Amino acid sequence: YNEEFRMMAQSEQFIKQKVKDFKAHPIVVETSTSAYDAIVQLFLEDVGTLYAVDSEGHLAGVVSRKDLLRAALGNRDLQEVPVSVIMTRMPNITTIYPEETLLEAAKKMINYHIDSLPVVKEVKGEKNKYLLLGRITKTTITRGYLELIEGK
Ligand code: ADP
Repeated sequence: YNEEFRMMAQSEQFIKQKVKDFKAHPIVVETSTSAYDAIVQLFLEDVGTLYAVDSEGHLAGVVSRKDLLRAALGNRDLQEVPVSVIMTRMPNITTIYPEETLLEAAKKMINYHIDSLPVVKEVKGEKNKYLLLGRITKTTITRGYLELIEGK
């Protein structure tokens, strides 16, 4: 009973933690990067999602495994396809702020059927312009939860 109670209390605490304390480094490419090079990056960095930034360094798009698989289905030379034409672009990107909680992050990922969220900061006075601070993924949250329960 005590063990169960401890885990419940910890779970409740965990889900209230802030995104900023759990975020991982974002793997970033430029919008002009080819789909071919994006695939290479996925393998090199061992991630499922890349974030594309524009020439000013603002978040421009999200490139996931499915986006790259879809591009590979077309009979195009992936060296010639920039990620800008296959990515999910602003303003359709679901983002999260550092001060939000892991519960909010988990809800967004489940509700929008996505594996990761870019952690962002708004550029003052500019609508839909964000600086990229990190990423939160289903893996980040699951790992954090396990570490807590296992007392690491
Ligand atoms: P995968 O394609 O590797 O399964 P996702 O499930 O996260 O990864 O991606 C599914 C689709 O949702 C892709 O088209 C991707 O561009 C898009 N997507 C991923 N993350 C986001 C996000 N934070 N906001 C909006 N769209 C996203």
